[in-house]
Amino acid sequence: MELTTATGRPALPVLPDPAADAVLASGLLPELAYAFGGPFHFLLPDAFDANLAAMRRALAEAGVDGFVYFAKKANKAAVFVERAAAAGAGVDVASAAELREALGHGVRGEHLVLTGPAKDPALLELAVRHGVLVAVDSPGELDALISVVAHRPAVPARVLLRVLPGAQPHSRFGMNDAELATALARCAEAGDAVRMEGFSFHLSGYAIQPRADLAAHLADLCLKARTKGLVADRISIGGGLPVSYTDADSWRSYLAGHDSANFHAGKSFQAADFYPYHCDQPGAQALAALLAARPEGRDQALADILKGVGITLLLEPGRALLDRAGASVFTVQGVKDRDGYQLITVDGTSLSLSEQWFNSEYLPDPHLVCRDPEAPEGLYPASVGAATCLESDMLTWRKIGFPCPPRTGDLLVYPNTAGYQMDSNESPFHDLAIPPKVVIDRTGDDRPRWRLDRHFS
Ligand SMILES: *Cc1c(COP(=O)(O)O)cnc(C)c1O
Repeated sequence: MELTTATGRPALPVLPDPAADAVLASGLLPELAYAFGGPFHFLLPDAFDANLAAMRRALAEAGVDGFVYFAKKANKAAVFVERAAAAGAGVDVASAAELREALGHGVRGEHLVLTGPAKDPALLELAVRHGVLVAVDSPGELDALISVVAHRPAVPARVLLRVLPGAQPHSRFGMNDAELATALARCAEAGDAVRMEGFSFHLSGYAIQPRADLAAHLADLCLKARTKGLVADRISIGGGLPVSYTDADSWRSYLAGHDSANFHAGKSFQAADFYPYHCDQPGAQALAALLAARPEGRDQALADILKGVGITLLLEPGRALLDRAGASVFTVQGVKDRDGYQLITVDGTSLSLSEQWFNSEYLPDPHLVCRDPEAPEGLYPASVGAATCLESDMLTWRKIGFPCPPRTGDLLVYPNTAGYQMDSNESPFHDLAIPPKVVIDRTGDDRPRWRLDRHFS
């Protein structure tokens, strides 16, 4: 395999994705670029269905009762919520607007989990009215929730208590042991007003063992809570199932060759700040590995511990459900020569590629659709800037090795952007339109069917 380009710059090809390739091959993208007159995203919701099905299979194969909530913050499109609703999956929401969106696009209230810190009383009230499971972040928030229920005693509040992870003691989320003890006592005192269903956590990073250890700890907490007469029959392990964007060799050689000389203006990124673009066990495979992992100090796999004490495993994946579920398309507006490489300007901004806003860069190689059939083949390094007046507004600082010389009017397609990249940070900066989202309903035919993502609000 060719690991580095002819110029010695490491390449980062994405893993094969036949559905996205079919869209590229169909010729649809130039037509849409013409129709919209600006950048746009296309969404492949069949990938969402497939990722969800794979996670459910991992649960079933381990014999574990589980329930998957799609963490909505990872993408704002309606179609993913619609797919979750159609499949009977849940949605993890963290604001009144997200809660409304999820209900409005067909998810049942009891299939929602409400996360986030210090939720305001109006949001808590809405959640209780719809039977939403609330992940409570502090004793104060629990009090607020109990006083909401006091006004409508017929409907209990469904509660998970969020735990401050021992391994991440500086997290601003979750309760420490003393706060948990207070919260548990309040739940017990609240009687029928509160249905305490269990505990939750969400860990930074992607390591499996700390999740297995903490999940086993939460199972123990459930057993203790049951002695107080509480239901405590489920735990949520949050999100953090990883996505693999590129193959192991490409990622290894990328890291080995990482050098600020390969970036426009000598821009220096810390390799440790990059997302780990390759992992051996992404998505559902990471879930299977977690269920098979043996928590520290235990002689059973996590799956067996959960089964043994009758605990349902809840998870809230965002990025992993969106693996290969979309891409972002820009048009080249101009090309400039620099010393040994070119600077491309595209018709959008780095607000549509969120990684740029976290001292990092979205590294998977974008695909250049060269419009000129006579374009010479070779290796043409170029960095990618935005159509704005900010020096720092670059979509890609890295000098990417393109297979043909970029020209005005060519399309640049950033792959696999549905998880967080495409819309987390978008705003109408410079009064530029927010890129529309196109849903590709079928990619098996010669010609993909497309429509706009529908929001009714
Ligand atoms: C962001 C978040 C998630 C989703 O995380 P991913 O890494 O996208 O899977 C799940 N749960 C909570 C509480 C979150 O804040």
